[in-house]
Amino acid sequence: MDKDLENLQKLAQDVEKENKKYFATLKKRTPKNLDVVMQELHDKEFERTDCLTCGNCCKTTSPIFTDKDIERISKHLRMKVRDFTNQYLERDSDDFMVLKSAPCTFLDERDNTCFIYDVRPKACAEYPHTNRRKFIQLTDLTVKNTEVCPATYRIVEELKKRIPLQSNKKVRRSSREKKS
Ligand code: SF4
Ligand code: SF4
Repeated sequence: MDKDLENLQKLAQDVEKENKKYFATLKKRTPKNLDVVMQELHDKEFERTDCLTCGNCCKTTSPIFTDKDIERISKHLRMKVRDFTNQYLERDSDDFMVLKSAPCTFLDERDNTCFIYDVRPKACAEYPHTNRRKFIQLTDLTVKNTEVCPATYRIVEELKKRIPLQSNKKVRRSSREKKS
């Protein structure tokens, strides 16, 4: 494994508790502009991140394949849905269709490109989901992704600086003061 990615696991594990606590607090009092802030942080991070030099998500985790994904990709590969499913996919413990093996079968490990990029699963197109609407619903997944995706790790670190827990406490206190 790449040295930076090896370090990432350790860095992410070191702040896992802190991140869980942070998001638990953020869930209780979610700033109205959270999605806007996340979009900004996501865009800024991906201006400097070149996924083709990383590919760690494709190497270590599987996307979920929806029925639509399976139909689209099978058609692209000129395979029957049943044959595609039998050859590449299995059902995980949460009943989602996922890849049988990692790295992803469709990853070209020479340059981290995707053989089926134009028809890739929706979950791949949206990964790492840090600019998704209602981001607050994806915080558990985001904490997990900090161990896989260096960009996600950095986005969460930036978010904690941008919206510190301290300011959440202040917001809570001032709203109580107003009521009394
Ligand atoms: S389908 Fe493509 S983008 Fe998705 S995990 Fe596989 S190689 Fe990566
Ligand atoms: S793990 Fe993150 S930074 Fe690496 S290729 Fe995937 S999305 Fe890009």
